[in-house]
Amino acid sequence: MTFKTDIEIAREANKKPIQEIGAKLGIPNEHLLPFGHDKAKVSQEFVADARGRKRGKLILVTAINPTPAGEGKTTTTVGLGDGLNAIGKRAAICIREASLGPNFGMKGGAAGGGYSQVVPMEDMNLHFTGDFHAITSAHNLLSAMIDNHIYWGNELEIDERRITWRRVMDMNDRALRDMVISLGGVSNGFARQTGFDITVASEVMAILCLAADLEDLQRRLGDIVVAYKRDKTPIYCRDIGAEGAMTVLLKDAMQPNLVQTLENNPAFVHGGPFANIAHGCNSVVATQTALGLADYVVTEAGFGADLGAEKFFNIKCRKAGLKPAVAVIVATVRAMKMNGGVVKADLGSENVSAVQKGCPNLGRHIENVKSFGVPVVVAINHFHSDTDAEVQAVKDYVASLGSEAILCRHWAEGSKGISELATRVAELADGDWSQFAPLYGDDMPLYEKIETIARRIYRADEVLADAKIRNQLKEWEAAGYGSLPICMAKTQYSFSTDPNLRGAPDNHSVPVREVRLSAGAGFIVVICGEIMTMPGLPRKPAAQSIRFNDEGLIEGLF
Ligand code: ADP
Ligand code: MG
Repeated sequence: MTFKTDIEIAREANKKPIQEIGAKLGIPNEHLLPFGHDKAKVSQEFVADARGRKRGKLILVTAINPTPAGEGKTTTTVGLGDGLNAIGKRAAICIREASLGPNFGMKGGAAGGGYSQVVPMEDMNLHFTGDFHAITSAHNLLSAMIDNHIYWGNELEIDERRITWRRVMDMNDRALRDMVISLGGVSNGFARQTGFDITVASEVMAILCLAADLEDLQRRLGDIVVAYKRDKTPIYCRDIGAEGAMTVLLKDAMQPNLVQTLENNPAFVHGGPFANIAHGCNSVVATQTALGLADYVVTEAGFGADLGAEKFFNIKCRKAGLKPAVAVIVATVRAMKMNGGVVKADLGSENVSAVQKGCPNLGRHIENVKSFGVPVVVAINHFHSDTDAEVQAVKDYVASLGSEAILCRHWAEGSKGISELATRVAELADGDWSQFAPLYGDDMPLYEKIETIARRIYRADEVLADAKIRNQLKEWEAAGYGSLPICMAKTQYSFSTDPNLRGAPDNHSVPVREVRLSAGAGFIVVICGEIMTMPGLPRKPAAQSIRFNDEGLIEGLF
């Protein structure tokens, strides 16, 4: 069987002018700031008004631990949004913007796939409306001002060895990870070691995605800890005096972007923080705007539910006062088989017992999400190689846990392939079953918060951390940061910190390697294992295949 590629399908899209999409949500033309004919920002004034309106129901799409087989969270988010609209509901979608870096590295876009996509996908996966470039500029303005402050006498007594604020670029470039800057003589400043991270790893990105409005944005930017003095007291962005200019640079980027699905339904695409050292979901501003305008809002959290949903609930929902009504956990037969020990090359042939063997991974995610008080439905994202017996095995397993799994064919069929799930999700949302509560209270000590996540979500026996790390957490508590939530950074491939441990492992430990304070974003990052904040390109980067074809169309991006 041959299938059209994502980009071939996207090119055939019958797009409507963006004003028509805005009108579906009641956004008047004067509050749509168009970028061409198919993208627009929604004005700051309109957003401020919409955020205060009656609230729609928030639906989270999350997943099992990812495998190389692919799960399809974005595809299902888009499909479910279309599915809800197709059964007569007023629904909007909220997803993240794409980073340029990975687009030129590994193939794969961020706009969904098959007949469940957001368009224009080329733009979405390239510069889009320039938000990430604005974030890059705002971040690097602060970097430049720090080195400039030192150059002109270092009145703040910054310890040059303890500058934590690096530089960023939206590119995979391993050569920039570690470097010495200010070489070349007196007029170039004081040589010191630093490096670049990818833009999506910038704290400015996390801040933009959690800030309520421009005022809150500026306050949070001011709160960023950029360096320490010799006596280890912190230097803040506001000591450097950069937060005002950074906010000015970010004023347009703070306005959410509106685009459409292949079925002409509204989709907000705004912000894109890393899912490891940050919380991995689209902006609070976009989610709240959508909730003010639509009756149902479908959104996605990065990675599997152990990281993505946990941070969505404990960081984003807690901080923004959001109450999710339903969670959809995406699972695939292929991923169940991989969790059951099948290698990628053998995924094509039927193997019911491997599916059954892999299901406990899904089971644990179901239990975890329910423990937040949010009703769960499993979406089985259908791949053409799945057999009826394999699909039935997943359904039976989920039913044995007292939950339900619904087969969805949105990738192949668009909204008509997902109407059963859409109907069920709407029913659950309308039933107001959600008793959402975060996993831990604000006032729990930081170390106990980490233990709570490790025990309740990862089902680890213990957290391992040096006295140095525990003392650092105590110092932050003494400095007034004790009420912050935790942002876990660990492998996405396993409940444990070992990426090769699939399924539902017990009896493991969670070693903490490092803790970092993101005072502006408002969380403590807990790093367990290797976390890469500046990716490299693979041996054969996708960039080598990206070009215009003879008809002037972009090839190779996806
Ligand atoms: P995630 O958000 O979980 O990372 P995506 O939704 O972006 O995953 O999907 C990743 C890739 O998998 C996309 O290229 C998409 O076209 C493909 N894909 C998703 N669902 C299916 C499916 N049911 N059949 C075939 N390919 C699929
Ligand atoms: Mg995705």
